[in-house]
Amino acid sequence: FPVSDAIAMHIAIIGTGYVGLVTGACFAEFGVNVTCVDKDAAKIALLEDGRVPIYEPGLDVLIEKNRRAGRIHFTTDLKAAVHRALVVFIAVGTPPNPDGSPDLSQVEAVAAQIAEALDGYKVIVTKSTVPTGTGQAIRRVMEECCPAGASFSVASNPEFLREGDAINDFMHPERIVIGCEDPQANAILRDLYAPLIQTGVPLVATTVETAELIKYASNAFLAVKISFINDLALLCDRLGCDVLDVARGMGLDSRIGSKFLSPGPGYGGSCFPKDTRALAHLARSHQHRLRIVEAGIAINDDMHEAMLGKIKTLLGEPYTDKVAGMLGLTFKPETSDLRESPAMAIAAAIRRLGVTLRASDPVAIPEAATLLPDVTFCEDPYETAAGCDLLIIATEWNLYRRLDLERLREVMRTPAIADLRNVCDPMQARRAGFRYLGVGRR
Ligand code: NAD
Repeated sequence: FPVSDAIAMHIAIIGTGYVGLVTGACFAEFGVNVTCVDKDAAKIALLEDGRVPIYEPGLDVLIEKNRRAGRIHFTTDLKAAVHRALVVFIAVGTPPNPDGSPDLSQVEAVAAQIAEALDGYKVIVTKSTVPTGTGQAIRRVMEECCPAGASFSVASNPEFLREGDAINDFMHPERIVIGCEDPQANAILRDLYAPLIQTGVPLVATTVETAELIKYASNAFLAVKISFINDLALLCDRLGCDVLDVARGMGLDSRIGSKFLSPGPGYGGSCFPKDTRALAHLARSHQHRLRIVEAGIAINDDMHEAMLGKIKTLLGEPYTDKVAGMLGLTFKPETSDLRESPAMAIAAAIRRLGVTLRASDPVAIPEAATLLPDVTFCEDPYETAAGCDLLIIATEWNLYRRLDLERLREVMRTPAIADLRNVCDPMQARRAGFRYLGVGRR
């Protein structure tokens, strides 16, 4: 097969969000010529202007370096980008429908647009997280719209990067999954990923359908692991045990592993909530119930209420007289992503109780202010805590890991901490005069 030289290869990435932008910047860093396409003209204008629309550590530097080297371009012109490319990645959103199934309309629309733009042979690769069967659907859409003389292969290459450490994850993945039955497309994709495969990164080569399922299975497993420790944390609250010792005692067993055993207010973000629901929905639509995944979802839904219970206990009634301060709004540190953030859901619930809310976050205030209009946003933890009856630690940004408890007590009206991320030492907080509740802490 006429395998191209990856260095000279042109690729197009449709959808310039978290995944598309990081993927584009990292492939450009490998020497590939990349065109990032988005229908959002404002986003593209920002990127052309040398600015980055999301907060992801190191991404601005990587994009600027490759922009200067002429290896990464930004455009709204999908057709021109497809013409230049041998490989076209679909990296658009797959948000949830109300019934839990993923809304695939962006993927389908892009597939039709790519098909209409085809002018020769291209490999069409789905990087978006999609249910098993979507590759087939893309193939059908493309066959309908593809001009005479053009040809294509369809592949699945799910993405496993984590926001906040996305570049490192892309550059040093634990595996690459390529679902593709066509040998020519397979060879082209192996060539594209050669800089990683050559360093020993394992490649899982399988069918399109199986690759699609691997992504959902991985996210669902991790989400279930989080729900498992969260459920145990609630039991620890009742038993007087310390969940951090339980997690450590479990995690040192290499069959279990210590990652994803940190109790908190429930998993959030743009992936775990939607992907668990999508997998459960996929199973049900094939007359199968993934009972463990469904239990993980139910536990996660209950966590917000459990956290609100702790907050209510510490505030005491009447709530309308009370002021709370919230530290952290994003679903995890080192990202500006507020999608399905437990902190945001809990903030809204606190407001519904009639509690006055002050909040801060290192990066997300501008967007949070549009979603929580009646919250006072503050610069730092101490300004947030000023006059409060309760301080809620909702996201474990490093900034909140070594709080000056004396200073906090001085500025607060009533010294109390709801530590939803277990970043404080409970004994230290109590010694400093705080009423303190963590998640499953003794
Ligand atoms: P995103 O919402 O940040 O970005 C999607 C982009 O696609 C947007 O900029 C949107 O304007 C653009 N888009 C939509 N329709 C388009 C069209 N017709 N033409 C051009 N651009 C179009 O989404 P994301 O977080 O990057 O996620 C993308 C996919 O990757 C999802 O399926 C998600 O589940 C999956 N994924 C996300 C992550 C993550 O951490 N965010 C990790 C792995 C996989």
